[in-house]
Amino acid sequence: MACIFCKIVNKEIPSTKVYEDDEFLAFRDINPIDKVHILIIPKSHIESLLTCDKENQSMLGKMLLLASKIAQEQGLVGFRTMINSGAEGGQEVFHIHFHVYGGSEKLAKI
Ligand code: 5GP
Ligand code: ZN
Repeated sequence: MACIFCKIVNKEIPSTKVYEDDEFLAFRDINPIDKVHILIIPKSHIESLLTCDKENQSMLGKMLLLASKIAQEQGLVGFRTMINSGAEGGQEVFHIHFHVYGGSEKLAKI
């Protein structure tokens, strides 16, 4: 399995873990774009939001609630969530992940 995030799940590649349960893992992005920048992934390999369907509804809901929980645990009072989907949507690692980031004083308006 060449997937870099599966390798992180299997501890073949080290990561700075901030949360783990049976279904999900969260760790710090290696190239942070903000003071706090966490990636949340399901442990099972799912390629992208583009390949999700109704079967993944519960997992996606859990990931969103986890984003809020982890952001608050990291001391963020506000945060952003980003899900790059597909190469044309900026996705570089094809194992679904939610970016959760924040903490900078000046917020870029998008
Ligand atoms: P994407 O562009 O696919 O939405 O985001 C992939 C993210 O994964 C990037 O922000 C990148 O910095 C991060 N990343 C890529 N490889 C690694 C790695 O080996 N370890 C960690 N912690 N983050 C990684
Ligand atoms: Zn994977």
